[in-house]
Amino acid sequence: MADKDIESRSILEEFERLFEVVAIRDESQIIREFGRGLTFLKFSPILERAFQNYYLRKYIWQFRIAVILGIGLYAVFGILDAMVFPSIKFQFWFIRFALVIPFGLLFLFLTFRVHNERAIELFHSMVVIIAGLGIVGMIYIASTGKSYLYYPGLMLVVFYTFTLSALRFYYATISGLTVVLIYLLIDLYILGTPKDQLITNMFFLGSATLMGMPVGYLLERHSRRDFLLTMLLALEKKRTEELNIKLRDISYIDGLTGVANRLRFEEFFRKEWRRAKRTKRPISVLMLDIDFFKNYNDLLGHLEGDECLKKVARAISKHIRADVDLVARYGGEEFVVVLPETDLKDALKVADRIRRDIERLKIAHPGSGASKFVTVSIGVASILPIDNLKREVLLNMADKALYMAKEKGRNRVEYYEPEREHNSKDTSG
Ligand code: GH3
Ligand code: MG
Ligand code: MG
Repeated sequence: MADKDIESRSILEEFERLFEVVAIRDESQIIREFGRGLTFLKFSPILERAFQNYYLRKYIWQFRIAVILGIGLYAVFGILDAMVFPSIKFQFWFIRFALVIPFGLLFLFLTFRVHNERAIELFHSMVVIIAGLGIVGMIYIASTGKSYLYYPGLMLVVFYTFTLSALRFYYATISGLTVVLIYLLIDLYILGTPKDQLITNMFFLGSATLMGMPVGYLLERHSRRDFLLTMLLALEKKRTEELNIKLRDISYIDGLTGVANRLRFEEFFRKEWRRAKRTKRPISVLMLDIDFFKNYNDLLGHLEGDECLKKVARAISKHIRADVDLVARYGGEEFVVVLPETDLKDALKVADRIRRDIERLKIAHPGSGASKFVTVSIGVASILPIDNLKREVLLNMADKALYMAKEKGRNRVEYYEPEREHNSKDTSG
């Protein structure tokens, strides 16, 4: 059953799941509940539901142990029946073993089947009331002259209700009072116990209930406080995690151009290199350098230079697959593009598209010689990584290809293959 593993999950994880369900984003939502919510033992609807889930999970075993212990004691008292009322013990046993205990067992069974806190508490309250009724019944059966012997049984029921049972305050109070009231009514109208005895009994029973109530109240209040504090803790944890992710994202981005930075590139490249080895698929790298960029800066100023870098970065980004490839600023006015699962032929196509696109931006460049516009040179390298090959090899190849592109006049794409050192693809316009 799904709820089984909910039980075994840690409380904090459970709370994180809760946040998604109840959409609590703000700790003030929780802090607000420390006032009235605690005093009246009732939170706002969303938190109240969450609390009831929490309470059920936290106390489900106490419910079970309490009812097992209760059933055990109820059964053991059968010995007392035999000792005190040997001639009519079967009537007592009938109440114990045929009425009250089966009901307790049914409840025990339901705690494994029903996962609704209110339903469980309601049923538990009924068990308490029926146990009380059983004792009233036994008092009735015993109504010889020895009936007073079993009154303390009612005290035990009240005691159970407010302590061991872990019943929440309102449930405990209502079931405790119901037991006392039922006894009073039955005594008044059916048993007809002498007045002084009845009054004495009511004094004792009433006092037991009165002393039980604050205990029940404080127990639930503490549980609720626990709940709120754990919620706060979990919220804090979730925040920290989100912040960490945000920080990591920031540390991965190049501040000027908004593309990935060198750190991210190293990480991405390492991972993709390993994957390429594993899947035996080719991987390609483009090294891209703006032509005569020093001149551009010298003639138009660094601010214009920065603007140009942004435009180039944007143009490159348009040509890569968002979830597969990576464009990163390698340093200065150099960019690197990683194309996993891409062979040389396709990498050259991508490179050429990027080169042409940047040329088409027609960013005026007074110091670029023949072109008059900002252009880039691109070195391309592709490889099918084999076992011991280091990934730096691919970068070096792309770097060499870039050098070739610069040498051959810039604004062009060159590729490098170890066995065909001087092959090139002339794409300059
Ligand atoms: P080549 O065609 O051979 O690449 O010529 P180049 O002038 O581009 O050569 P080089 O790589 O020596 O010049 C790089 C220049 O890029 C140096 C520097 O002025 C400029 N640069 C590097 N980083 C930045 C930056 O962040 N902002 C700006 N505005 N300029 C930068
Ligand atoms: Mg450079
Ligand atoms: Mg340059």
